[in-house]
Amino acid sequence: MAGRAVIVGAGLAGLAAAEALLKAGWDVLVLEARDRVGGRAWTRELPDGSLVEMGAEFILPGNDVIEATAERLGVGLQQKGMAYGRRDIHGDGEPVTQDDLRAAAAAVARALDDPELAPGSAAELLDQLDLAPSVREAIRARVEISAATAADSVDARDLAGVAAYGDELSCGIAGGNQALARALAAPLGDRLHLRSPVTVVAWDDEGVTVRTADDELSADAAVIAVPAPLVRQIDFEPLLPPEHREALARLGYGQAAKLFVPLLERPPASAVLAVRERYWTWTARVGEEVQPLVSAFSGSQAALDGLGVAHGPDDWLAAVQRLRPDLALARDGVVLSTWADDPWARGAYSIHRPGGGDDAALTERRGRLVFAGEHTAGPYAGLMDGALRSGMRAAGQLGKPL
Ligand code: FAD
Repeated sequence: MAGRAVIVGAGLAGLAAAEALLKAGWDVLVLEARDRVGGRAWTRELPDGSLVEMGAEFILPGNDVIEATAERLGVGLQQKGMAYGRRDIHGDGEPVTQDDLRAAAAAVARALDDPELAPGSAAELLDQLDLAPSVREAIRARVEISAATAADSVDARDLAGVAAYGDELSCGIAGGNQALARALAAPLGDRLHLRSPVTVVAWDDEGVTVRTADDELSADAAVIAVPAPLVRQIDFEPLLPPEHREALARLGYGQAAKLFVPLLERPPASAVLAVRERYWTWTARVGEEVQPLVSAFSGSQAALDGLGVAHGPDDWLAAVQRLRPDLALARDGVVLSTWADDPWARGAYSIHRPGGGDDAALTERRGRLVFAGEHTAGPYAGLMDGALRSGMRAAGQLGKPL
């Protein structure tokens, strides 16, 4: 193949592909719809200087590609002083301790290893385990929040993640996760075009032509690195093969929202989960000090409806005030982050469907087209780490230019 590759989407997947292709000797051009890089990794600074992650926040244990990428680019990691996997549980029933959760995690791990059990969904597996009702409900809340969907619509294997993370302290990228996207984009210079949504991709065995509202660009290959709902919106000429379109149509997306509430005082680091309302809150360090800010994350459409997210932050703010009487909430400067209404995301992240497994059709090369994005990352789907892995994999599928 000759040497020009167009990359559609400057999230972590597209940028990882661009970095790898540049290294392999390709001439690259990245087209991004938004006026910034990073996609669902988006860091904002509040008026008081606090940093908030509107989307992706935690680097989870075992996400070693993102850690290696940060190190390679000279971008540091930032300790948060709290553990993503350890949350105080506030439920309606019997108190749930960390020991209860550890015992339940061990039971989940044993069940997932048991060849006699065909667990299907997370809900089905939880129903088969001998757990106290309040513990079962806490774990169900945990998985629904993290998977951003109901427990009966996510694979039982997601329980392993929820249960396993434990007490390991969490980190993110120093200066915010979007800093990693900026570092990946830095070598691109004017080979990155912002505000350039791609509407048409014409492809055959010889090459690719990509159209935006005011441009038409020819290349030898293209990487499509946009979320599945946006892949479905691009006009492919000819259409992608049926198995690819069907795989895209099968993908479900979870719904999640975040709320950030400035505090009048710096609190200690903490993490508290509200079982019934399906959200959790945390206070965390940036640098040496805990920020004067409480963050909240809610997952699943039912939870977002219950918290009235579609009508603004007020109901959720009142709920946080009830859950966290230990914190002095400021009334001004509350920020709500939603993704279902984001035109370039259309949801939070892909869902591992019960029994779904990896969908090979999503990562198949089609002539001169390859595909990236968290939704193509198999067990790492839904993560920044998966986005990076997918971009590297897609670049590898193109190999070196002639
Ligand atoms: P994106 O980041 O969505 O990038 C795709 C890019 O394509 C976007 O910039 C978009 O604007 C662009 N685009 C779309 N359509 C077009 C078009 N037609 N033409 C040109 N450009 C286009 N992950 C974690 O690891 N840890 C977390 O704690 C975590 N929390 C999360 C919390 C929330 C609320 C959300 C929403 C996500 C979270 N994630 C988390 C997931 C993580 O953000 C994603 O997995 C990852 O950032 C996806 O990267 P991507 O490159 O695949 O997609």
